[in-house]
Amino acid sequence: MTKVHNFSAGPGVLPAEVLQKAADACINFDNLNLSLLEISHRSKNFINVMEEARALTKELLGLNDNYKVLFLGGGASLQFAMVPYNLLRTEGTAGYVNTGVWASKAIKEAKMIGNTMVVASSEDKKFNYIPKGYEIPSTLDYLHITSNNTIYGTQIKHFPKTSVPLVCDMSSDIFSRKVNGNDFELIYAGAQKNMGPAGTTMVAVNEQALGKTGRKMLSMLDYQVQIKGESMYNTPPVFPIYVSMLTLKWLKDNGGVEWIEKINNEKAATLYAEIDRNTMFTGTTAIEDRSNMNVTFIMPKAELEPEFDKLTKEANLSGLRGHRDVGGYRASLYNALTLDSVKALVEVMQAFEKKFA
Ligand SMILES: *Cc1c(COP(=O)(O)O)cnc(C)c1O
Repeated sequence: MTKVHNFSAGPGVLPAEVLQKAADACINFDNLNLSLLEISHRSKNFINVMEEARALTKELLGLNDNYKVLFLGGGASLQFAMVPYNLLRTEGTAGYVNTGVWASKAIKEAKMIGNTMVVASSEDKKFNYIPKGYEIPSTLDYLHITSNNTIYGTQIKHFPKTSVPLVCDMSSDIFSRKVNGNDFELIYAGAQKNMGPAGTTMVAVNEQALGKTGRKMLSMLDYQVQIKGESMYNTPPVFPIYVSMLTLKWLKDNGGVEWIEKINNEKAATLYAEIDRNTMFTGTTAIEDRSNMNVTFIMPKAELEPEFDKLTKEANLSGLRGHRDVGGYRASLYNALTLDSVKALVEVMQAFEKKFA
């Protein structure tokens, strides 16, 4: 098979050895001569998978025992609703920082559930930076932030320091850099960017924050019900959870978040250096807020885009087209993408400059 350098923004690249193990488990899981896809989620074999996925998440995020980890269906988008439903008191107010499409969608859902206040926004500049130095009212039930803005290529480098409980959508940079999970009341992440395949969403929540809204709760949307059911109140998405577990194990066995953070820093520095040096390309975001996960750039001579696309295709580079809201290009450098793939992209950018500058 030809090696394709996969820069897809999501679902994104996974480690080759993880894909191989996942494929094997579809045929013969745990030497049961049964597929992972055709056994009970209540079997000891699958319960082990779930427990390991939860334990690895806790370990890699450094979470203390107040935290419960869930693997739910419905995508990160369902968490836009579940977060206010479970944490926003009927008399309270939730704060949001609007840093793009995903944050805006989270705000839209929260407004349906209760009082919601946007404390800061970067909409004035098409979300090309991270708001800083804004005031956070101490009375908020929580402050919702998005650690990495997948579409625009911005990333929070310093999380707000506040007494207000923080809720963070880490869908596109979870496990990519060291964070102290205990600094957050709740962290959620759709698996398909940096953790596994589409179909499950990880939620890590401080259990002590739950049960305080004064709202009658629908069972499936109640974190307390999901915790009590150990993420198996109903049939969980077994395959995405299994592959997420394999990816987390891959990360841990190779040296954990500290190991991958160094590589991620080097990958991003290599690509940004080329964007800044190369006369054919320009970065699209504020430099201090540049994401290490999603690198966005445009070509001022947009009429040459088809030529660049031809070169990237010849070099087996895939998934580089920018989001329709931003245009240009986006290289997603998730954990499983290697430095070699970044170097392959840089070579094509240099060849393109030689030919067309
Ligand atoms: C992709 C993404 C989402 C949406 O995830 P779904 O699982 O498709 O609902 C939410 N937030 C961020 C930051 C994302 O990158």
